[in-house]
Amino acid sequence: MTATADRSDVSTILNPATGAVAGQVRWTNPADVPQIAAGLREAQQGWEARGAKGRAKVLARYAVWLDEHRDEIERLLIAETGKSTTDAVQEVLLISIILSYYIKTVEKAMAPDPRPAPLPFLSVKKIAVHYRPRAVVGIIAPWNYPVANALMDAVGALAAGCAVLLKPSERTPLTAEVLLRGWIDCGAPEVLALAQGAREVAEAVIDSSDYIQFTGSSATGVKVMERAARRLTPVSLELGGKDPMIVLDDADIPLAANAAVWGAMFNAGQTCVSVERVYVMDTVYDQFVAAVVKAVENLKMGAGAGFDFGALIDESQVAVTARHVDDALAKGAKALTGGKRPEGKGSFYPPTVLVDVDHSMLCMSEETFGPTLPIMKVSSVGEAVRLANDSPYGLSASVFSKDVERAKDVAVQLECGAVNVNDVISNLMLPTAPMGGWKTSGIGARFGGLDGVRKFCRQETVVVPRTAAGAGSNYYNHTVKALARGNKLMTKFAQIRPRREAK
Ligand code: NAD
Repeated sequence: MTATADRSDVSTILNPATGAVAGQVRWTNPADVPQIAAGLREAQQGWEARGAKGRAKVLARYAVWLDEHRDEIERLLIAETGKSTTDAVQEVLLISIILSYYIKTVEKAMAPDPRPAPLPFLSVKKIAVHYRPRAVVGIIAPWNYPVANALMDAVGALAAGCAVLLKPSERTPLTAEVLLRGWIDCGAPEVLALAQGAREVAEAVIDSSDYIQFTGSSATGVKVMERAARRLTPVSLELGGKDPMIVLDDADIPLAANAAVWGAMFNAGQTCVSVERVYVMDTVYDQFVAAVVKAVENLKMGAGAGFDFGALIDESQVAVTARHVDDALAKGAKALTGGKRPEGKGSFYPPTVLVDVDHSMLCMSEETFGPTLPIMKVSSVGEAVRLANDSPYGLSASVFSKDVERAKDVAVQLECGAVNVNDVISNLMLPTAPMGGWKTSGIGARFGGLDGVRKFCRQETVVVPRTAAGAGSNYYNHTVKALARGNKLMTKFAQIRPRREAK
C-alpha cells in the first residue's frame, strides 16, 4: 500500500503492485479511542451474558458470512497488498479453520475447570477454576496478512466473551472494514470495533484496553510492553522471526527443495514464519541447491490471478530486502537467481537464492521479510543446530529427514516455539497447538487448544467445602500442643521427609 497525504483524516490507499486506487480510509482520532472502548465495555456485558453456547451461534453465522464473501474479501486483499491470488486465498481459509475449532470447543474452554486436592486430607475442599473474560481486548496487527492478523486472535477473544478493539496496520486498513461490516451484517452485537491509524492510535488502544494482543516486529513489541506496563495491562506478543530450515543428509531432496522455495517465497517472503535461512549437509548440498534453483526459475511474480507470489507491501520493504542482498553480495555471497530489483512499476523484488553466505551477513542474522533464500553448507548435524540457534529470534523452524525420529531428535534441540518436520509453516494451521516465539520472537502464545480462548480471561479460583464438618478447624482455636500435633500430621501427609523404609 501507499497512503497518500490528503492533509485530512481520510487517506487513499494504493495497490503496491500497480499504483491503482484500492480504497479510502478514515483515520480514527486517538482522542476518540477511550470513548470507542467505553462503548465496547458496555456492550461486552451482554455478550458475556449470552454464555459460550450463545456466542458460538453468532460465531457460526460469522463463519458463514466470511465464506459467502470470500471473493469480495480476497479482491480487496489483493488490491491493498498486491498479493498473488495463490497467497490471498489462504487467509479466509485459515480463519475458517480457527473459527470452526473455537465454535466446537468454546463451551468446554469456558466451563469451570475442576482441580484435584493436592493431598488426600485436603479433599474436604472442592476446587474449580472459573474463566471470566477481560472486558476489552486490544488487538494491534501488522500488514502482511490483513484478514488473518485481524481475526486469528480476535475470534478466540470474542468466543471468550470479550469485546475486541482492533487496530489494523495503517498500511492495510481496508480489509478490516469489510470484516467489521460482516460482523454487523450477521446480526452480532457491537463488541467488535476498529481504531484506524498508526502509532498514536495504537498507544490509545493500549491505554484503553484490558489485554493487548500484539503482532508485529520485535522492536515495536518492546514499546507495546513498556506502554502496557504503565497500567499493568497483560500482553501477548507475537513478534518477528528468522526461521531456519535444516536439511539432513538423508532428506527427500525434491521435497525439501520445494518446501524451502515455498516457505521462503510464500506471500513474497512476508511471513513471520517464512524460511529465512537454510543449513544443508555437505553430502546433499549440490543436489539441494540445484533443485531449489530449478523450482525458483518456475515461479511467476505478479499480483492477482495466474501468479505465484506478488509485490512487497511498499518501497521500504523492497529497500530492506535489497540492503540484505547487497550486503551479502558485497561480503562474498553469490546470487544464483534474482539479486537485483527489476525495472518497471510496483514494489517487486525477484526471488533471490543466495549461496556462500555466513552469519556475518545481514541476510543470515536480521529478519529480511522478503523473497530471499540464503543457503549455507554444514558438515555435521551439530553444526546445523548450533547455527540455527545462533540467532536472537526463536519463532519456528523446520527439519528434513526421511528418518522422522532422527528429525525429531534435532527438532527438540532447536530454541524456538515450533518445529515442522518435513514441512514448513504448517503448524500455523493447527489451533490445537500453541504458536509462540522464544527469545525476541515473543511472549505468550496464540492458539494452544482451549488456551486460545482462556488466555483472554482472568482466572478465578473458587473453593467450596464438601461438608460443613471441620470448617474453621484451622482458626485460632488451638492449644499450642494441638497445633504442634497438627503440624506433625501435615508434614507426614505431605511427605516432606522421606519415609524411614524408603531410605
Ligand atoms: P510493526 O511492528 O511495524 O507494526 C505492527 C503494528 O504496530 C502496526 O499496527 C503499527 O501501527 C503498530 N505500532 C507502530 N508503532 C507502535 C507503538 N509505538 N506502539 C504500539 N503499536 C505500534 O510491524 P509490521 O511491519 O506491521 O509487521 C511486520 C512484523 O510483524 C515482522 O517482524 C513479522 O515477523 C511480524 N509478524 C509476526 C507474526 C507472529 O505471529 N509472530 C505474524 C505476522 C507478522
